[in-house]
Amino acid sequence: MVADPPRGDPKAEPTANGAPTLVPIEDPGATGGGCGGSRDRVRRCLRANLLVLLTVVAVVAGVALGLGVSGAGGALALGPARLAAFAFPGELLLRLLKMIILPLVVCSLIGGAASLDSSALGRLGAWALLFFLVTTLLASALGVGLALALRPGAAFAAINASVGTSGAAEEAPSKEVLDSFLDLVRNIFPSNLVSAAFRSYSTSYENRWINGTKVKVPIGDEVESMNILGLVVFAIVFGVALRKLGPEGELLIRFFNSFNDATMVLVSWIMWYAPVGILFLVAGKIVEMEDVGMLFASLGKYILCCLLGHAIHGLLVLPLIYFLFTRKNPYRFLWGIMTALATAFGTSSSSATLPLMMKCVEERNGVTKHISRFILPIGATVNMDGAALFQCVAAVFIAQLNQRSLDFVKIITILVTATASSVGAAGIPAGGVLTLAIILEAVNLPVRDISLILAVDWLVDRSCTVLNVEGDAFGAGLLQNYVDRSELQSSVPELIQVKSEKPLSPLPIPTEEGNPLLKCCPGPAGDADPCEKESVM
Ligand code: ASP
Repeated sequence: MVADPPRGDPKAEPTANGAPTLVPIEDPGATGGGCGGSRDRVRRCLRANLLVLLTVVAVVAGVALGLGVSGAGGALALGPARLAAFAFPGELLLRLLKMIILPLVVCSLIGGAASLDSSALGRLGAWALLFFLVTTLLASALGVGLALALRPGAAFAAINASVGTSGAAEEAPSKEVLDSFLDLVRNIFPSNLVSAAFRSYSTSYENRWINGTKVKVPIGDEVESMNILGLVVFAIVFGVALRKLGPEGELLIRFFNSFNDATMVLVSWIMWYAPVGILFLVAGKIVEMEDVGMLFASLGKYILCCLLGHAIHGLLVLPLIYFLFTRKNPYRFLWGIMTALATAFGTSSSSATLPLMMKCVEERNGVTKHISRFILPIGATVNMDGAALFQCVAAVFIAQLNQRSLDFVKIITILVTATASSVGAAGIPAGGVLTLAIILEAVNLPVRDISLILAVDWLVDRSCTVLNVEGDAFGAGLLQNYVDRSELQSSVPELIQVKSEKPLSPLPIPTEEGNPLLKCCPGPAGDADPCEKESVM
């Protein structure tokens, strides 16, 4: 099941995370971008980081191409048909990534949950959720702080004059905060697993006249959008149940592990198409935009606030947390996931970035499969630092725009609801804007002003998505570090991974409670680490 042609004899080398990974012998400086010295080394380094470099170049080339085509007349000159053809290579990447999400999330979580015993699963899950919660709260606080300091909504008159607001949103009754949270819980328990693959539950409202009075009536409906939260929860619980079956569940666990491995091989092929797709995704979006200058002039401060917040959280706060816990270079870790970050920027979707992120953290940052394939799908679904940050900026911005003062209680309400609503935000383009209404409702701000946020969301959403996926990756890196450290401190194995390569044999029933240790089952003789087979980078 090896995807790529052999690239030399592998040997174990430390990665950005310090864990050993397989690196071709002729590429001594291949991991995490640690290059230096002679021309030969630089050449090897370039070769080892080829995909990362291609992706970064693709983003820059996409911006240049987009600006060039815009300068030559843009969407107007191209016409709708040619514009669609121009954006086609990008659309193709999105389709490929979306195609892979469902099998990847379900199989990796079932395999991941089944590979951990329940106490370790609980402990790892609790640490991950704590990390996600704390970092999202920090991001929210940063967003509120920046928006209060920079006052992006102070020039409200200019914004209203230039962009204008639509009154249409006022006509439709807005959703209650309680309903948003009830929908979140309903989606955790999908009534139909098959329809959860492409539909989610959502409550909307209708005005009805009852006995001469206008009444807001809630109407629950299934809307077109994958219910990834429901699938994540089901897959975890199903994985735990399979493990409980013991030997009887082993066959199915191997089936899901094999399915997952094959899906990752597909991902490794898609990765080489990513630079082309990203180039056209970015260029296509820039060409599509009209009046970019006007938007920047009127909403520039709001955009600045969001981008600055994302940069501070992504380049300082998260790396600092990672460094404090691991004492390892966080920027080397970031370099390792650069391809995934560029994909997040190009696609504006955490879900679509998930396959490449798994590949990056496993192969470049030394995170083991059972950590990455358990934590990353959860992170991509519930951890959205970027979304929480931008939602806080947007809420304060709209308050300033409407000259409403925000007291301490309202600020705390914004922080808490932004953190909670970011959990409910889907990892799709503009997923965060959809849940912004919850925060605005909670602090009694006009929901119609979301139209302003939407006008520039094509840009803010990109940096937001980059931060969302970066938070997930750092979470996986920290968890790996925690497991590695526990492994050093204890000799009692607790986490046993089920391997698809091993001949069928009864699953060890977990008995011990103790430090979470990851133990890879031995593979065929001579196989240094059967967990790390398919490789692309
Ligand atoms: N686009 C973001 C993501 O996929 C969600 C958001 O809009 O904040 O992570």
